[in-house]
Amino acid sequence: MKKIMIKDMPNNIGETVKIGAWLANKRSSGKLAFLQLRDGSGFAQGVVVKEEVGEELFAVAKGMTQETSLYVIGEVKADDRSSFGAELNVTGIEVISAANDYPITPKEHGTEFLMDNRHLWLRSRKQHAIMKVRNEIIRATYEFFNENGFTKMDPPILTGSSPEGTSELFHTKYFDEDAFLSQSGQLYMEAAAMALGKVFSFGPTFRAEKSKTRRHLIEFWMIEPEMAFVEHDESLEVQEQYVSHIVQSVLKNCKLDLERLGRDTSKLENVKAPFPRISYDEAIEFLHEQGFDDIQWGDDFGAPHETAIANHYDKPVFITCYPIGIKPFYMQPHPERDDVVLCADLIAPEGYGEIIGGSERIYDYELMKSRLEEHNLSLDAYAWYLDLCKQGAVPHSGFGLGLERTVAWISGTEHIREAIPFPRLLNRLYP
Ligand code: ATP
Ligand code: MG
Ligand code: MG
Ligand code: MG
Repeated sequence: MKKIMIKDMPNNIGETVKIGAWLANKRSSGKLAFLQLRDGSGFAQGVVVKEEVGEELFAVAKGMTQETSLYVIGEVKADDRSSFGAELNVTGIEVISAANDYPITPKEHGTEFLMDNRHLWLRSRKQHAIMKVRNEIIRATYEFFNENGFTKMDPPILTGSSPEGTSELFHTKYFDEDAFLSQSGQLYMEAAAMALGKVFSFGPTFRAEKSKTRRHLIEFWMIEPEMAFVEHDESLEVQEQYVSHIVQSVLKNCKLDLERLGRDTSKLENVKAPFPRISYDEAIEFLHEQGFDDIQWGDDFGAPHETAIANHYDKPVFITCYPIGIKPFYMQPHPERDDVVLCADLIAPEGYGEIIGGSERIYDYELMKSRLEEHNLSLDAYAWYLDLCKQGAVPHSGFGLGLERTVAWISGTEHIREAIPFPRLLNRLYP
């Protein structure tokens, strides 16, 4: 007998098949039992008809508890009522193991309870759909960069120094030396770009963020491309092409998942390059016009500011050329102004906030050295990075996209904790 996955049922209409599954939910009457089956590849209904299967098997079907694992055997039937298009007419059940008092029932549960049970919560339909969207974004990321001549290079996670300050760093020991968990692989990716031209990384990053917001995780995954011979404006073009590609890929390949999430896809269809661009100066002016008097030129934006700006557009919007004082040391100064740098943040629509931070990087040795000194960073710790400026350095640009912010936005998930399988949050290290 053919062993298949639920997702392949529509291609096996009329066949008798065997599927390994869990019982997600169940309804039954005296004559019929409806089994909601889940195998990770999808969800499907299995129908057990007492008259067809007999007393004994029907009693087994009716007696199974939620999340019991089983092999189910049956004939695949076309079913037009479900968007999935198929259901299983069950003829055999082999229980593998029972589940005892499974805590997540179809009723509503509080967030803390669900977070305590994250190891089980992942089995729910909504979480399944979010993880499928996450996976599609990762797949489309590899596709985009590989098709555009980038090489994947992996920066280290244990590092001796870090690009941005020390307040948010996780400190650890590296035998007798001090070490830190990576906050960003950028500096290493710059070195990689000088070797391979166009590179990208995808890996975990760690920030001891003391803030409790719906956009910040302690551990999150970042995609960090870095490109030699690419200037600021050209980098923005890559960014808008990349973000368009992942949004359009999810729309195309995760239709059922977006439907299950209740995502208003009309808000995503329009996400195609080019994206609007406004300067930091214009953004400040706009906010003042909107009545925000809590922000002055020279301040970084908070979530309400980003949301007010984003609400003005139906696509992600670039805010370019921030004041030099609120950005890291390595950003290239504006050629005509000494108070701003060649950088941009990409702000997602619908209040999901900053999804990308990027910039052109300094490559002049003397300028880099003086910027490091102005930031009181140790020239010893950054010796190898500074050395890059002396070895045939070229203009180059790069950016970092936060995967979970992007998952939250595209899937329409209110809080970032649901955008990663096992979120690390301020007060949560388990499960
Ligand atoms: P924010 O202003 O929202 O705190 P940031 O400017 O500190 O973000 P960057 O250092 O520019 O962030 O990092 C690049 C990207 O990584 C951000 O645009 C965002 O998508 C993501 N990111 C940053 N911090 C976090 C976090 N704590 N949790 C999840 N994603 C994050
Ligand atoms: Mg931050
Ligand atoms: Mg920011
Ligand atoms: Mg940023």
